[in-house]
Formats: sequence, C-alpha cells, structure tokens
Amino acid sequence: MVDLHGQYQRIKPEIDQAIQRVLDSAVFVKGSEVKEFENELAQYLGIKHVIACGNGTDALQIGLMALGLRPGDEVITPNFTFISTVEVSALLGLKPVLVDVEPGTFNIDIRSLEKAITPRTKVIIPVHLFGQCANMDEILRIANEKGIIVFEDVAQALSADCTLKSGKTVKAGTMGHMASTSFFPSKNLGCFGDGGAMMTNDSGLASTLAAITHHGMRKRYYYDLTGVNSRLDTMQAAILRVKLKYLNDYTRSRRQAADWYDKALKGLPGIEIPERSPFSTHVFHQYTLKLDKVDREGIMKHLEAKGIPSMIYYPVPLHVQQAFLYLGYPENGFPVSGKLCSSVLSLPMHTELDAEQLKYITDSIVEFVTRKS
Ligand SMILES: *Cc1c(COP(=O)(O)O)cnc(C)c1O
Repeated sequence: MVDLHGQYQRIKPEIDQAIQRVLDSAVFVKGSEVKEFENELAQYLGIKHVIACGNGTDALQIGLMALGLRPGDEVITPNFTFISTVEVSALLGLKPVLVDVEPGTFNIDIRSLEKAITPRTKVIIPVHLFGQCANMDEILRIANEKGIIVFEDVAQALSADCTLKSGKTVKAGTMGHMASTSFFPSKNLGCFGDGGAMMTNDSGLASTLAAITHHGMRKRYYYDLTGVNSRLDTMQAAILRVKLKYLNDYTRSRRQAADWYDKALKGLPGIEIPERSPFSTHVFHQYTLKLDKVDREGIMKHLEAKGIPSMIYYPVPLHVQQAFLYLGYPENGFPVSGKLCSSVLSLPMHTELDAEQLKYITDSIVEFVTRKS
C-alpha cells in the first residue's frame, strides 16, 4: 500500500545527515530542531502556531483537554473514519456524537450534522478524510451561529487547499479554531516513528496546548494545568524538516497516480472512482473506489494473487464497534456509513508508484471486472 523504503532511498543522504546531526548534538528531546520544524510547518500552512506532540491521537486529546470542557459535553464527529476522534472524546468523559457522511466525498454530511446539534454540543471535529476537505464553509457557518468550536482533523489531508466561499484559498487545518495532524510513517507527511501536531491562530490557546504536552507546566516545576507527556522527539523533527521540503512533490506524485487510476478505471462496470470535491484539492492519502455488485473479497483475492495489496478503509462504522455500543445507536442508524463500509476498496497509493506498476494494477482490475461481467 505504501513504499516507505523507496521514498527513503531517494532522499537518503539528506535524511542520514539530519539524523547524524541529532546524534552529534545528543539533545534527543526538546532539541532546537523541534521548534524549527514547528515554525517551518506553520509557515508552510499559513498559520500562526504549530505545537508538535507525540502522535495524532494525542494531538486530538490535548486539543480537547485545552478547551475546558465538562463531563458530558458533546463532541460531534463522523461515523465513517479512523477511531481516534471518538476514542479521545470518550477517554475525557465527553460524549461522542456520531453523524453520517456524504456518499461521494466520504466527509461529514451537513444535514446530519445540523440534526445532531444540541445545547450541549461544544465541539465539531470534521475529519478531512482520504485527502480532501470537508465542507468547511457550512461547518463554520453552523458552528459560528451556535458558538461551537471547530477542531479539524487533518491527519489525512495535510497540504490540501480549500477554497472558501469568500474566494480565499487556504490550507486544510487553518480554517477552524484549531486542528490536529499525525506524522505516522504512512501519512502524507510521515516521520520514522510516531509524531503529531496541533495548529491554531489563537496565541492563548497555543500556549495552553504547549503547556499540556509538557505536564501542564509553563514555568519549570510549576504545574498550572493537568497535562500529559507527549513530545515530538528531536530525531523525528529533523526527519520531518527534510521531508516537508518534498511535501509538494509527494502530493504531485500521489495526484499523478490518482489521475492514472481515474483514467484507467472510469466507466468500468461496477466500479466508481473517487469523487473530487468542488472546493478542495485532493492530496490522495487514500485512493478509494466504491464497488457496486463487484465481489469485493473476490477482487481482493485476485489482486493479492498478483502481488497487489488492497485494503478496506474502513470495514466497520464506529457506532457498531464493541467499545462504542454503549452510545446506544441503532444498528441501521447511519445508512451511508453502513453502505460505504461494505463497498469501499482502497488501492496502493504512495509517492513511488511508477507507470509500469500503475498499469499492472489497473490491468489486473480490468481483468477481474470484465471476466466477471
Ligand atoms: C492516523 C490518523 C489519526 C491518528 O494518528 P496517530 O498518529 O496514529 O495517533 C487520527 N485521525 C485520522 C483521521 C487519522 O488518519
């Protein structure tokens, strides 16, 4: 699904040098490279503050911790996504409120969002799933009307551009009150271990976020807040500084691969290529097909036999996960999420796919689909 080895080989001298620099400095935690990476990412995104932390899940948790919420306050998040947004809400004693998604973009559905809002709704966490932005104009309009915080989860869409109704084009993660991202190795900007960050334009909030990552400490050994220990280590920051320079090139490679897939698979019986949002660029964290009456297990086996990986992101909606049955949602309460879980299929998507590989993958899909029909 990804080719981290190939990606490393291309920039090996630069990465090795960065790692050696950290080894020589022997400042493994809170080295100056962390601050420099935060500044460089802030500049890239066009946002005032980036606060690095241990991973993307911590970024969500620390973000929620900084908001002064009370037990039982409601946090709205999509039902078709990775577990983190729901998990951290539950951990903090908040009430996760799930909403259905749009069948085309896989992102949070605005009508369902409006219906889910109650007087206890304090935060909306839109997840920019698979690489393109949720409908931020509408989400911000609803949130601003009701005084609700918008906390973007950009883990899959870092570097995507969103064009707002105002005509302004801005980066994903800079539109809400704050945002979180992950530098897990397979993410569009990935390090060589775990890493994450929060982003905000609010300087007061930024200072609170930074304190929470470091035991709630502002002045040494004076603890103002209940915090955690969640830091990006210097080695990861040094690696990310190198890789940030290539992020636009990486996105270009992903888009080229997606364009190839689109062209080769469009119009095939039973195969629906991913819809592209009218207001967001797509950075293709995943290239996800929807299958209609194509045997999903069959096609996955066919591809596997030819050495081609494929994955189901995500096989089970969150509301029927064992850990979240207590939320009490009816099994058929989210028709779109349910249908997507049984029909999506993600193809290999990374920066190192070449024409020969892409042709081999799409030829194999065509072979399966036409053989069956
Ligand atoms: C990867 C991911 C996360 C979690 O990031 P980790 O660094 O693995 O904790 C959260 N949200 C989304 C949408 C993700 O894809």
